[in-house]
This record gives sequence, C-alpha cells and structure tokens, in this order.
Amino acid sequence: MTTCYNVPNLMPFELAKSTLLSNIKKITETESILIQNADNRILAKVITSPLNVPAFNNSAMDGYAIRDDALSDKNVTSPPFTQFKLVGTSLAGTPFKGELNNGECIRIMTGAVVPQSANSVVMQENVDANSDVLITLLHPAKLHSNIRIAGEDILQGHTLFNAGHKLNAIDIGLLSSLGLTTVNVYRKLKVAVFSTGDELKMPGETLQQGDIYESNSQVLVAMLQRLNVDVISLGIIEDDRKEIADAFFKADELADVVITSGGVSVGDADYTKDILNDIGDIGFWKVAIKPGKPFAFGTLPNSVFFGLPGNPVSAVVTFHQLAVPALRYMSGGNQIPSIKLNAVTTHSIKKKAGRMDFQRGIMAVNPKGDLQVTPLSAQGSGILSSISRANCYIILAQDNQGHQAGETVSIELFDSILS
Ligand code: AMP
Ligand code: MG
Repeated sequence: MTTCYNVPNLMPFELAKSTLLSNIKKITETESILIQNADNRILAKVITSPLNVPAFNNSAMDGYAIRDDALSDKNVTSPPFTQFKLVGTSLAGTPFKGELNNGECIRIMTGAVVPQSANSVVMQENVDANSDVLITLLHPAKLHSNIRIAGEDILQGHTLFNAGHKLNAIDIGLLSSLGLTTVNVYRKLKVAVFSTGDELKMPGETLQQGDIYESNSQVLVAMLQRLNVDVISLGIIEDDRKEIADAFFKADELADVVITSGGVSVGDADYTKDILNDIGDIGFWKVAIKPGKPFAFGTLPNSVFFGLPGNPVSAVVTFHQLAVPALRYMSGGNQIPSIKLNAVTTHSIKKKAGRMDFQRGIMAVNPKGDLQVTPLSAQGSGILSSISRANCYIILAQDNQGHQAGETVSIELFDSILS
C-alpha cells in the first residue's frame, strides 16, 4: 500500500480515485452459472462463438426462393425468368430437401433454410402465385435479396465478449443463440456495511431528543444491490470503542470490502481512527471535493475499507464517485465511463475555488432543443431530498469560481446506480 494519502492539503479528486484503484485487487474466484442467472454478472472468461449465427442461410421474408443463373451477371432478373417453376417448400424447421435448377423456385417462410442453389428470395407481395406450378414476378428480383447469410450476426470462432464484460438481458439472448447453457463469471463481491453514530435510530424506533433516523446504510445497501454484490448489512454501531472494534473485526471476517458511514470527520473520528490504525493500514484523506471532503481508505487484514462521511449527500457522492469505480474493478468488471455533457445553466451557480464541486441539478431539453440544467437551490451536504430530485451532477472544477445564468457547464448524468 502506498502512503501518499497522508498529504497535509486536500487531495485532488482524480488523484484520490487513481490511488484507490492502484491499491485494490480484482477478485480471482470464478464460478459457472446458468445463463438464465447471468444478468448483471461479470464474465471471467472470453466468450468465443462455437458456431455461426445464423447457422445457415435463411429467408428474411415469407415468399419464394428462386434460382436465376443470369442474376449473378445482371444483378436483376429480366425475362425469360419472370416466371419460375414451383418445385417444393421450405418451412422454418423443415427444410426443402434438394436443390433448384435454373428457372425453379420453392415456397419459403421466414427463417427457413435457403437452398445453396437459390440466389434470391422474392417477398410474396411481389409475386403473382395464382398457379400451383408457376409463379410470376411482379417486379425484377435482385441477387441475394432477402437472404440472411450464415454467420452474419456472429461468426464462428470470433470473440463475442471479453472477460470483464457485464452481461445484460440482450447478452443473455446472444449466449443462448450460441447454444450455451452456462457461463463462467467472477463470484460476487461481499460487501459489509454499517453506520456509526449514537444519534442514529432505525426507522420504527422511537426518537429521543437529538436522535435522527438513520438513512445512509439504507441508501448504500440499495446502491450496492444495483452493483450486484452480496451485501452484509450490520446496521447501526454506537460511538463506542469496543462496539466499533467488534463491528470491524466481524465485517473484515465476512466481507471483501467494508464500508462505513460517519465518524471520519475530525470531530468524532478518534475511535475509528485508533481502531483502524490498530487493525489495518488506513489513510484518512481530505479529498478536494464538495460535498464529501472527509474520506478514509485502506486495508484491513482480509478486506478493503472505505470510510464515508456521515452527511447523507456526502456519503452518496463519495460512494458513487470513489467507491463505485473501486467496487467495479474488484468485481472483475470494466470501468463504465460516466456520460458527461454540456448544458446551459438556467440560474447562476455559486462556487468558491479550492474543491471540485458535484452540485446536483435537473437536466432537461429546452424548447429550442438544447440541453439545460437547473441547479437545485438546496446544495447542503445534509439535504438528501436535493439529490433525490436531481438527475445529474453539475461538475465544477477545483479552481472554478461559479457561473452566471446562460453559461455552459459540464454535467454528468446519473447512472443506473443513482437513478
Ligand atoms: P459524522 O460524519 O459522524 O460526523 O456525521 C455527520 C452528520 O451526518 C451528522 O449530522 C450525523 O448525524 C449525520 N449522519 C451520520 N451518519 C448518518 C446516517 N447513517 N444516516 C443519516 N445521517 C447520518
Ligand atoms: Mg458521527
């Protein structure tokens, strides 16, 4: 572990993120699971196609597969073969057995095998088929029209997905189209979560003077579920040396990653700091971001630790911006770049130089069709409702000193973790 996190000044956001990423390791254990259960799991091995998809040339239309040898030269039919002799039928799952001679055709349905000897499929709307033995083309046919070529979707032997790819519903369809029943994925990351604070009560409990209902661990657990990790929720831990130490030992034993909220700012950090320094190698960082300056990161005997600030918006922003990329990496997955866009701010934005701001905003398309963003008026780090109403961050660089209404700012759309 590097020790660059004990810098006296604020650590720039990008440095914090890259330091985190260079001090964690990817999971190594993998498992084979049914493809039906593979949504949102991360591939541990490359998938190479064992076959061509489609496996054979097949018809894209209901109509007639024709053979006109002149087509290959002229590309378009012309007399004498405006009429074709009907010699059979090819249905999806029941191919025509045989080949066509020049001037012959078969009735063919969508998905049915196109005989090797056929060189075009004519859709039935373009054919006069009143006779049982002859069809007449109403328009010239084109070479290779309406034929789906073997391997045009996926070629046998080609790489479909690399390791690190997160599977989605479409991907599962592709795996199924290759005839695969199981897939090799990284095991799920185990993440333990607890909140510290004497003032915290669970919803349903009675509040005493000065108490508040706990929300951070609920938010974190829900966001972790979006990441598809196994969550171990250890609830609320009092600000008590022994309780906190026990919670850390238990969490470290059960999980690959331990995430806490509260107790990392200067005021009440002392227990946590002492305990963590005893049992692990932890750095207390001051990251140059707003919200979310206090943040702790390091290693425990068996796990990696992220200490988030207690203020609810700070906890969300530090988790989302710093912990999520780390968790994705540890889970074996590729980084998913956030979507950054330019938008015109509808209101002025206040900002002091010194920290990078992740202000919360509502992005919309204005009547002219341009992107605009409305910064939420409540930007306090304790005001969770502000992030609930937002759909994007307004990203303001460390040295930025605010904006007038009408200026262009950079926004980052909330991803699937936050929306
Ligand atoms: P701390 O980081 O422990 O100094 O807490 C900073 C602020 O966040 C205080 O107002 C705490 O009451 C509040 N806070 C801490 N933990 C939580 C939590 N789990 N849920 C909601 N608010 C919290
Ligand atoms: Mg506290």
